[in-house]
Amino acid sequence: MNHFHARRGSLWAEDVPLSRIAEAVGTPTYVYSAATLRRHLGVVQSAFARVPTVVCYSVKANSNLAVLKLFSDAGSGFDIVSHGELARVLAAGGDPKKVVFSGVGKRADEMEAALKAGILMFNVESAEELALLDRVGRRLGVRAPFALRVNPDVDAKTHRYIATGLKTSKFGVPFEEAVALYKQSRRMKGLEARGVDCHIGSQLTDARPVKEAITRVGGLYAELKRQGFPLTHLDVGGGLGVTYSKERPPGVEDYARAVLESSPHLDATLVLEPGRVLVANAGVLLTRVLFRKKTVAKRFLIVDAGMNDLLRPALYEAHHDIVAVKPRRGPKTTMEIVGPVCESTDVLGHARSMAPLEQGDLLAVKSAGAYGMSMASTYNSRCRPAEVLVDGGEFRVVRKREALEELWRGESP
Ligand SMILES: *Cc1c(COP(=O)(O)O)cnc(C)c1O
Repeated sequence: MNHFHARRGSLWAEDVPLSRIAEAVGTPTYVYSAATLRRHLGVVQSAFARVPTVVCYSVKANSNLAVLKLFSDAGSGFDIVSHGELARVLAAGGDPKKVVFSGVGKRADEMEAALKAGILMFNVESAEELALLDRVGRRLGVRAPFALRVNPDVDAKTHRYIATGLKTSKFGVPFEEAVALYKQSRRMKGLEARGVDCHIGSQLTDARPVKEAITRVGGLYAELKRQGFPLTHLDVGGGLGVTYSKERPPGVEDYARAVLESSPHLDATLVLEPGRVLVANAGVLLTRVLFRKKTVAKRFLIVDAGMNDLLRPALYEAHHDIVAVKPRRGPKTTMEIVGPVCESTDVLGHARSMAPLEQGDLLAVKSAGAYGMSMASTYNSRCRPAEVLVDGGEFRVVRKREALEELWRGESP
């Protein structure tokens, strides 16, 4: 469910016509719906309401401060993967006690910043990382709370670029090595085992691998408790998929049932790390038609947003529905919807059947709230888009369009 809908022949975000935003702010622009963000978080919170849970929104999906603030105000914690994301969370007023720190390559200075901030726990992904965290903890005179991210070796059945729970992936500690590492940590004075963690991949559309993974790590959690580790948190990761076009991912309720059935009687606080499911369908990328062009082989629609603004189609052949903000009547034709970037992979929509479009028409690239702006770059020295948050009948710019001078900030000619 989201709050983008057609009204009087045009596309609106809540009670604001998208065309009004484009006129005021220009294009390309990301537009987010506050009501949709709140609703999605609320659905997750209520699906898990009967067990102790910390929802840690995965910041990398959409790290705009206004989005973080909205989630923080609604009770969410955060899953971070860098010092930069920690700084964003703190700048947005997020509660560090509800922050988990994931990622395979944390530096000592990042660990130190997170320890000083007082985060909930580090999700540690290797023996060497555990040893470094111990050193940093001892240097600061504290015990760093940690969970091992264990790799349950399950096939998440998602695109190979976003599967993370297979033996061959760089993520997590091999399942077979986890117990030995926890035992080792008992002798390390800068550490305190607090939980067990897993995350098997993104855009999951099948609940079975989730069940399989959580059953395995839940078993490990119970075993470690039997061995006397004072664990309190089972982190089941994120990854729940969304509908971009025809996918049928489990609903949040079904997902919650799968998680809870796989982890009964554990006496653990669950940590969830949802990213995409909270933000993807809460955002669109607004873009304008620059030119139409016909070659012997194809028709092209050249728009003012490119792969530097929305990387997903070029990076993982991702599909986003693309619609006219004010559809015209007329016969449909098939076309490539492409951006201005000098790369052949700069295709936002492949072989799309579209009603007539003219220069200057506005398009909305849908489901662009997750891994959109957070992956944007300035490739081709293109300024990154503006971001707008709509709330009811109001909208405000929550990130200004990047200015030309910002493109070379810090450079010296
Ligand atoms: C990216 C990531 C998430 C969020 O994944 P989504 O598919 O956006 O829900 C959660 N946990 C970890 C460790 C991640 O790397």
